[in-house]
Amino acid sequence: MRLRFAPSPTGYLHVGGARTALFNWLLARRGGGTFVLRIEDTDRDRSRPEHVEAILSGLAWLGIDWDEGPYFQAACVERHRADALRLLADGRAYRDFTPREEFERARDAVVAAGGGAVTRLSRELATRVPPAEQERRAVAGDPFAVRFLVPDGETSWRDLVHGDTRFANAEIDDFVILRSDGTPTYNLAVVSDDADTAITHVLRGDDHISNTPKQILLYEALGHPVPAFGHLPMILGPDGKRLSKRHGARAVDAFEAEGVLPDAMANFLALLGWSPGTDEELMSRDELIERFSLERVLKKGSVFDPSKLFWMNGQYIARMAPEELTAALREALGRDGIATDDIALDEEAFARMAAALAPRSRTFTEMARLSRPYIGPIRDYDPKATRKNWYRDPAATAGVLSAVRDRLAATQWEPNALETQLRALAGEPGVGAGKVFQPLRVALTGVAASPGIFDVLLILGRKRSVARVERALDEIAARS
Ligand code: GLU
Repeated sequence: MRLRFAPSPTGYLHVGGARTALFNWLLARRGGGTFVLRIEDTDRDRSRPEHVEAILSGLAWLGIDWDEGPYFQAACVERHRADALRLLADGRAYRDFTPREEFERARDAVVAAGGGAVTRLSRELATRVPPAEQERRAVAGDPFAVRFLVPDGETSWRDLVHGDTRFANAEIDDFVILRSDGTPTYNLAVVSDDADTAITHVLRGDDHISNTPKQILLYEALGHPVPAFGHLPMILGPDGKRLSKRHGARAVDAFEAEGVLPDAMANFLALLGWSPGTDEELMSRDELIERFSLERVLKKGSVFDPSKLFWMNGQYIARMAPEELTAALREALGRDGIATDDIALDEEAFARMAAALAPRSRTFTEMARLSRPYIGPIRDYDPKATRKNWYRDPAATAGVLSAVRDRLAATQWEPNALETQLRALAGEPGVGAGKVFQPLRVALTGVAASPGIFDVLLILGRKRSVARVERALDEIAARS
């Protein structure tokens, strides 16, 4: 199998493109095939080198590697042109000198006269110019487009996803293959390139279905073997409409920046339009390669649900090895401008914090944010947390917190001793667990939600824990 991904560098690598790339890659890797990358940069006005860069780096981030390329379509324009001229020479295409306005006038006249097919109108107009005159005008340098002469009949293929698919040729315009400025059109360029790289399977978004009959006709006319085609179902937004910017459908590198892991992203993308046939969701890259098959590509569109991506990412985070976890957290902190030197925790405390935050974090960006009160000072106390946990009864809270402070200062600093001390305090008459642990949590972290309180104490260490309780006591005294 020879497969390809052929993005146009007119934008960044978005979710749909990444999904197409992934499915091609999985199929190539599964069957020992070859995966070719081709950049379709013939749209000079809209193609940008920075988009090429972003597409390449997005693929690299996702772990999608290619065996050949990247080929650049714009570098092959001479071959495209030669193919178009060969079709012209073989009588499979014709010259069209009709000016655009004249064509539009004729078309409007047909429509005004009650409709009727206009798909052969360009042919009718073009063939009014006798062959000898066509020759003469071409030699004289008159501009003309080259149109493909669509044969009668029907064009069909067994789509790898949708099954038997057919189009009546009468509905297909004699499409332009070479514009009057000499530039080849999209359908011709794609066929010329796919044939040149001996692509056997074309797997792409189903927005290309209507191009497929034209491309098949071109393969046949050029005498190339026709590859197999498969069209992947649309990706939909939560409202059931085609996924677009409106849905916050971002480029893949935005998810990277948010701390999504490449394996989680690949896993999530694989399930956008494919199912393993069971309700399993978490699958490693190797499992995906082993299990992916076109038979299980769904025909109907699948909904892009970012909350599912973030859930999945959380599952990947929760399964990471300690060293991977700390490295990824340091990286995410680095993106926030926080270097290792700025972190007030030693290796061990940092690792304990990362492990404690992992089950509470859906991304490393979120983990970095949650780690703020541990790696540095508390900047602000969450007012809702203090209102609820300190200021309902400031005197009682201060009493409990000073008892906590004394015990923290005196106890042995290890989990069992800490737990015994604090649980004993919580067990005293009139105190209760809620009255100890929540005010203490706010004192230690500034917020009402955190990992287990004993973990928090061990992360911060005795000195910083005691100092934070004292600062809380000062705050409460100042407000009372
Ligand atoms: N360049 C086209 C696109 O980005 C893909 C062409 C193809 O896969 O045949 O939509």
